[in-house]
Order: sequence, then C-alpha cells, then structure tokens
Amino acid sequence: MALLRVPNFDRQGLFQSLNKLLGQAKTEAPDNLQPLLGMIMVDIKNFTSINRVYDFKHGDLLLYFVFQRLAEYTASKDCVFRVGSDEFAVIVPQLESSGRIVLEANNLLDTLRQPYEWQGQEISVDVSLGCIAMSAVGTTAERLLSSAEHMLQRAKLENHSICFGTDSEAERDDSTWLLEQDLLRAMHNNELDMVFQPKMDLQSGTPTHAEALLRWEHPERGYISPDFLVEMVARLNREFELTKWVLHTALRRIKQWPDRWGLNGVAVNIPANIVQHADFCQLVDDSLHIWQVQPRQLTLEITENAIMENQQASFSNLDYLKGRGVKISIDDFGTGYSSLQYFKTIPATELKIDQSFVLNMADNNDDRNIAESIIQLAHRFGLKVVAEGVEDGEVLRELKDLGCDYAQGYFISRPLSHERYCEWLAGYQVNREQGTGNREQGTMNNEQ
Ligand code: C2E
Ligand code: MG
Ligand code: MG
Repeated sequence: MALLRVPNFDRQGLFQSLNKLLGQAKTEAPDNLQPLLGMIMVDIKNFTSINRVYDFKHGDLLLYFVFQRLAEYTASKDCVFRVGSDEFAVIVPQLESSGRIVLEANNLLDTLRQPYEWQGQEISVDVSLGCIAMSAVGTTAERLLSSAEHMLQRAKLENHSICFGTDSEAERDDSTWLLEQDLLRAMHNNELDMVFQPKMDLQSGTPTHAEALLRWEHPERGYISPDFLVEMVARLNREFELTKWVLHTALRRIKQWPDRWGLNGVAVNIPANIVQHADFCQLVDDSLHIWQVQPRQLTLEITENAIMENQQASFSNLDYLKGRGVKISIDDFGTGYSSLQYFKTIPATELKIDQSFVLNMADNNDDRNIAESIIQLAHRFGLKVVAEGVEDGEVLRELKDLGCDYAQGYFISRPLSHERYCEWLAGYQVNREQGTGNREQGTMNNEQ
C-alpha cells in the first residue's frame, strides 16, 4: 500500500522536461527539419463523483492508477506530470507529423477507459483530452502548456472526448479570445451602436417602421459584422444582456423620431436562446413600460430555427407577447424549417421573405414563384408579409403587384444612424410612380 502514492503536483518538473526537449530540438535538429513536439492534457471527467460515491481513498487510488497507465503508455515517467487535482500533462516528443498526436490521443483514450480494478471492485472513468502539436523551434514551454490547456477547455466545453489544435489554430483562438474580451469591454462601456433601416408600406408608399441593426466598429479591426458579433455574444453567454441593450436602445430612439408618417414602429432581432428565456416577457414588458412605447409599435424579429429549438417555451412566450399586442415577425423565412404545420400554430403576425429569394426576383422565375407562394399562403392565414433585400425598383413594383405588404432594402434606404434616420423620415416624399420616396444611397459601411 505504501507504493500506491498519489502523484504530486509537478508543474516545475513539466517545465524542466519541456525546456530540455525544446533546447535539444534547437541544437540537434538538422536545418531542413522542423521537429514537432506534442502535448496531451488529460482531465478525469467524473472524478468528483468517484470521491463522493466511494471515498477520497478511492479517489487517490484512481489518480495513482491513471498516472501509472500514462507512464506505461509513454514508457517514461519524465513525460507524465500531474498538473491539477485531476489533470495530467503528457509530453509526446519527436512527432513525425502534427496529425500523429491525434492517433496518440485516441490510443491514450482507449487505454484510460479500460476499467480499473481494486480489491475486487471495478471502476471505469471517462476522460477529456486536449492535444496540441507545435514546431519545437520557436515555441516555449509556456505556450505549449497554455495551448494544450486551451484545447482541453474546448473539449470540456464542447463535450468532445478529444480536441486537437496546431500552432496556427492556437493563435487563431488567442485572437478570438482577445476579440471577445474587447466585445465584453465594449458592451460594458456602452460602445456598441445601432442603425435603422426603413420598412415601407407598399400599398400607401409610406415608411411605417424601421429595423434596428447592431453595429460595432472595433478600434483596430474595424467593422465587425453583426452576424459574427451575435455568434460571439452567444458563445460568451451574454445574449440576454445584449438583447436588453438592443430593446432599450431601440425603444428610447423611437420616442425621438418625427411622427410625420403616423405612429413610428421599430423591429428588433431576438436571438434563439432569448425567445425561450424565462425572463424574456418581463424584459419586453419592462422596456415598453420604461420608454412608454405602445406594444403595437414593437416588432420582434425571430428566425424559424429559434422557435423550433424549444417549441413549447418559445410558443408560450410568443403567445403572451402577441396577446399584449407586440408584433412577431418570422425573419429569413424560407431558409429554415418552413413547415406548413407552421401556419396553423405559429404565434406570428408577419413573415419576412428571406433576401435570397428577393434579390434576383426580377430575373429569376423560381424566386418570383417562391415569393408569390409565400405571400398567398401568409395572407390566407392572416399574416402580413415583408420582403427584405429589395435592391431595385423593378423588384419593388413586382412585390407591390403580388400584394406584398412591406418592403425593406437598399433601394429604399441603407441602414441609417439615428440622426440620419430622423432626417430621412422628415424629408420623405411619397412618389407613387416610382413606388418609393427619397432613396438613401451609399455603401455597406458608410451608412452613418
Ligand atoms: P437580418 O435580421 O435578416 O437583417 C437584414 C440584413 O440584411 C441586414 O444586414 C441588412 O443590412 C441587410 N440588408 C438590408 N437590405 C439589404 C439589401 O437590399 N441587400 C442586401 N444584400 N442586404 C440588405 P446586417 O445589418 O449585416 O445584419 C445581419 C444579421 O445580423 C441580421 O439579419 C440579424 O440576424 C443579425 N443582427 C443584426 N442586428 C442584430 C441585433 O440587434 N440583435 C440580434 N440578435 N441580431 C442582429
Ligand atoms: Mg431581421
Ligand atoms: Mg432577415
């Protein structure tokens, strides 16, 4: 029993071994060869359960067994180190190729998953592995360890058994991490921006509402697309915070718009996870109340996939909000599930035909037929229809002929800053000939 000693934490030993190998690679490698060094981080997934269900003695024993297996696998104790309570680092020297580390990790996974026997009892463990392969020339022990740790975190977060990365992937992840930090700082310091793109009532030719679109100008990297930004926010689990900011900013702005064309409306995009969130209805109610905006002035744009993810929770939230008078629009319609079942049950008031069908409608019969079918079907079920991505006058006229209710797109106006939108509204003229009023031209990014 005296031999069954729990391995000590030995980060220092790990660094010594790594530095030795890196030094050798630099001095001994022929000029035309880039020696590769690999590292595998191992984390025992159910270690706390083992300590709880059995006892700490079993836990310690397991650590000992895992360490032994790793040492046997590498045939060297100088390549295996305990670096956390249930975490081990394994050095894999002299890799022939970076892909080889994945093979090694798979073998190690099989080895570690074999049951452990002690006093007639069998215990099985599951592990997560993060592995990295790097050129031994030009890297450091710290970089190897932090990159392998990073791959392990990714494996744990994304629920993979093994996560593998190379030098450039680690660098890319570092750069994403830095960008995420900048985004969190921008959110905290209120540095995000919002632009507004008008939607026009096709029958009356008047602007009725605008879609609020998120903008972020990174101080060094420049324009970051909102799609990418929203994806980052989801990864960071800050979607609720962002939606709160978007709703409050949009409703605050609407109060400042000139009401020359009647009661102004604003549409905001709501991410999938928020549609089903237990506090979503409260958030909408509170923001309407704080900014004294009527529910019918607010449209929530939601993608089809968002509703389908957790139908029960989403439908119940949307039913409540629709009952309050808030408008619910299905964004990018035609690109997701688009099931006919939809029309019977969906708590929506409006469909937005995806711009992929609208952009070339004038030249493409299939697109035109799809748009026409969506309009007819939606109307039969009492839903309004918005066409997004209207870039020319011919498409606008066709949509009007097909009975589409609203249009949005560069032909009418690019997204505008709050100030420019106020000016645009004030100067808008109904031009029934052209089907539109004052067109706001510009390029994608000089919309302000
Ligand atoms: P979306 O909700 O479908 O927004 C419409 C997108 O189409 C906008 O891109 C808009 O600028 C663009 N667009 C408008 N008219 C035209 C046109 O005539 N031609 C072309 N080619 N494009 C046109 P944007 O602003 O880059 O936004 C992309 C997506 O990012 C949005 O798609 C939405 O899913 C998301 N997004 C934007 N703002 C927010 C926000 O505040 N919250 C959330 N959750 N998502 C947002
Ligand atoms: Mg939208
Ligand atoms: Mg859309």
